[in-house]
Order: sequence, then structure tokens, then C-alpha cells
Amino acid sequence: MGAGLRRIVMVAAVVGCALAVAAAPPLALPPGAQDAAARIDRPTLEAPIRVLASDLLEGRAPTHRGDEMAEVYLAGMLEFLGLKPGAAGGQWQQRFEIVGVDSHTPEGWTFEAGGKRLVLRRGEEFIAASGWQRPEAAIRDAELVFVGYGIQAPEFGWDDYKGADVSGKVLVMMNDDPDWDPALFGGTRRTYYGRWTYKYESAARRGAVGAIVIHTTPSAAYPWAVVQNSWGGEQFDLPHEREGTLAVRAWTTEDASRRLVALGGFELDALVKQARSREFRPVPLGVRTSLVIPNAISRGETGNVLGVLPGSDPALKDEVVVLSAHHDHLGVGKPDARGDTIYNGAVDNASGDAQVLAIARAFAALPHPPRRTVMFAFVSGEESNLLGSEYLATHPPVPIERLVADVNFDAGNIFGRTKDVAITGKGKSTLDDVLVAAAALQGRVVTDEPFPEHGSYYRSDQFSFARVGVPGLYFRSGVDYLGRPPGWGREVQNAWLRAHYHQPSDELTPDWNFDGLIEDAQLGFYAALAVADADRAPAWNAGDEFARLRKPAAR
Ligand SMILES: [Zn+2]
Repeated sequence: MGAGLRRIVMVAAVVGCALAVAAAPPLALPPGAQDAAARIDRPTLEAPIRVLASDLLEGRAPTHRGDEMAEVYLAGMLEFLGLKPGAAGGQWQQRFEIVGVDSHTPEGWTFEAGGKRLVLRRGEEFIAASGWQRPEAAIRDAELVFVGYGIQAPEFGWDDYKGADVSGKVLVMMNDDPDWDPALFGGTRRTYYGRWTYKYESAARRGAVGAIVIHTTPSAAYPWAVVQNSWGGEQFDLPHEREGTLAVRAWTTEDASRRLVALGGFELDALVKQARSREFRPVPLGVRTSLVIPNAISRGETGNVLGVLPGSDPALKDEVVVLSAHHDHLGVGKPDARGDTIYNGAVDNASGDAQVLAIARAFAALPHPPRRTVMFAFVSGEESNLLGSEYLATHPPVPIERLVADVNFDAGNIFGRTKDVAITGKGKSTLDDVLVAAAALQGRVVTDEPFPEHGSYYRSDQFSFARVGVPGLYFRSGVDYLGRPPGWGREVQNAWLRAHYHQPSDELTPDWNFDGLIEDAQLGFYAALAVADADRAPAWNAGDEFARLRKPAAR
């Protein structure tokens, strides 16, 4: 949206407060909704953040003591608000096991073709982690096959595999998804098919023993250093319920990949060119490799905290609207320059927990509960690849088709009120329309996320719900702050990311401005309330990548 149009909307918002109430409101809210929303105030948000981000909770790392303290605290708050336990067996906590795998990957990885050898160096040229939760993961004399993007997407008429048997092979693939055509994989907007998680999973489903994703900074949207950091150290996962995951999940740098395919007599640029076509077929590279990774395995328990407000409509109360926020963070770790070792995670994500608790308070204050049941879900393991929400979405306390939507809160805005609201993954479902109408009540406009090519939709908990077909909404304050010059919002947000994101200094400090957190929580309340009261449940937009995963309702 251009700046001119935005200015007009602003003016409408300034004169429009009375107007929004007097004229037909864009969102029909039940009596008492505005009074209930007024319960969302600064103390309601600040108090839980003060507790959750306290040093006493030691950064809330899954399986640690601070994790369980956070769960007990959140469960206590839900009970205090008069809600009902939401987990199976009348429990507040949904506890589950997670498995830690610390891969001791060798320094060198050897590839062979026709008597020639190439040894790649760990860290500088490749990263490899075990996909197996066993003391050892091994590839033994397996053949490398280039599979292009490694994507099979029926809705886009795209299939890189063309039925090729790749069992026992190591698949080499490009990162990202085709981005040269707006009608294909959303153009430059990243789809799930562009994420490495999809690529590894899809390779495993085909019986491959390993997969190597070729890293380039544009295709990953982050530099090699990020791959190095996030794949070093212990990796957590849910216990594998089935065999058939990849033994080795790897990345190589673009330069190393170039030399790797050259070993088999291929040219990387030519392979990439072939891959940018629907006619592409897998290319055996004539290169073989072995790799043995010894693993240290650990097991521990963590949990989600679930509370519900039962719905009031006899027909619709079996359907559930979920509001989610992750309660875990990174625990105790490497000291920063001040010698602080506790990663408090005040913004990420005590702020989101506080928003969901505040929304729970507003729902509990309604004179009549909404038609559908509302669930407040504080999930664990988000920082470990969304494990808590994955567990909840794959072990839901009610059948999955009864979950009608997830509205997720992750890392709220601590810089003040904004005129704009950005939807992460805009255009996916009818939840966008609900948010647009709710934002209009606040005189705010809804925009696209600032970097759709980053694929942020797949990096927080709404994605775990989307993967099982439940429409998920993740919105955040935009960058257009009230009373601030253009560019100010982007600047302070980026400065915060550089100085505090995933660092011990992500703490509650006196300079926080709660006004944006309050307004966004009220927005989430209005949107969730509208969904809970609507005649029809939200739906994926036609042709969306997750639409075919939606299970039809039982009724
Ligand atoms: Zn985080």
C-alpha cells in the first residue's frame, strides 16, 4: 500500500472512533465485548512477563526446572481466571517426552567418483546432523542423486521426482521453491515447499537415507553462519513414532556443492537450469559416499498448558478456537558481554504468553461465553522446531477436525501503538478478513508481512496447526508507529533484533511501551471472539498449499 492511501486511512481513524460505533460496525461483536476488552491493560500484561522472564525461571528451557515452573504458573493463572482444564483427563498440563540428539559429526566427509575423492570440511563447507535417535546414524556407500528442488506439489502440477526410486540414496537438492512465476508457489513468497523441513521430510518418505540441501544466502534468506549456529549442538525432537527418517540431514555451501557435483562430471549451474523446469527428472550424480555419526542421546519431559472456556451453543460448542503462545525459551547458556547467562525471553515469548493470558481474562469477563469453545494453549519447544505445538496438533485433546482456527502470539511489540498490522502468511485463509474487520474497529489497516520471502509463517506455532489442516493466523504490529516519523519503526525493530534477539538481554526493562502489546491483544481478542461466534468456521483460501489437508467436519 502506498503512503498516500495510508494517510487517508489514518485520518478516517482519527475522526472515526465514534463513527465506528455509531455506523454499522464492520465486525459484529456481542454485548459486553468492549468492556471485556478493557480488562486487557498494562498490569495484566506486565505481571506475567515479570514472573516468566524472571531469572528464577532460568530461561524456561524445555525439560528444565524453569520450564516446569512456567507451566505450573500458567496453569495456575488459567485456573484463577475460572477456566477449565483443557488437556486429556481433566489436566491443565499436556506432558510429553522429547529426545535430545547430540551429533558428533566427523571433521571430514568423503565423496568418491571413479577413483577421485573430495573431502568436505565440517563447519566451513558442510553441516550434518543425525536424523536418527540412536547411538549411531550411518550412510554406507550410498549414491548421490540430484533432485532439483525436491518438491512434489500436485496443486502446482510440479513433481521433481517423477516416480524415480530414490530409496537408499543421498538426495542433493536446492533450497527454496520456484520463484520466477507469481502463479507458481506464490512467486517470491516462500511456501512450505521451500523450507528445508519439507525437503528432509519428503526425502525420508521416499526412503532416502540422507539429504543435502545446497545453501545460498538468497535461497535461504540467511547467511551460512546461521546454518552453522542452528545445527551445532544438541537437537531436540519428539520421539520418532515410526522408522524411516533420514539418517543424515545435511547442508553444503554453494562452493562445496559446485565441487561435489563436479566430482561426478556435472556443472552446478547447468543442473540448476534443468531444475527450473516442470520437465526436470532426477539426475544420478555418479558420486558415492559413506558417513557415520556417533550420537549422544538424552530424554526428558516438557509440556503444553491448556485451558478452555466452554462454548455456549449446543451445536457449535464442540468446535474449538485456539489461541496459542509458546512458553519455552533458550535456558541458561553462553554468557554475553555483561556476563549474563540467563536467556530470559521476555519479548520472546513471555510477551505472547501475557497477551494470551490477558485475552483469556477478557473472554472470562464476557457476560455470555461465545458459541464455540475457546482454548488457551501455552506450548513448549517452539525454539526447538515447534515441538510443543506439533505435539498438540498431532495429539489434540479433541478430534483435529473440531479445531477451527489457531491465532498465535509470538514476540509482541514493545515500542508503542502502530497504525498498521502485518499478517504473516497473508492470503492463506478467511481469517485475514476477520482480522481486517477487527483492525478496522481500532482504526488500523492490515498489511502484508515486510519480508514474505523469509517464510516466517513456517517458523512459529501456527504452522504446526496448518500442517494438520487447521487455519492459523499470526499477526504482529506493523512498522508505522503513532507519532513517529517514517522509518522509525523499522529502525527500532531492527536495532532490537541485533541487540537482544535470542540473547540474555531480552529482559523486561523500564523503557518498554505496553500500548502496542495491549492494542494487539485486544485485536486478537476481537478476532478470536468473532471466529468463535461466527456461523461458519474459517477456511483456507482455494488452492492454498494447506487446503487439501483440512479434515472435513464430522457434522
Ligand atoms: Zn525465539
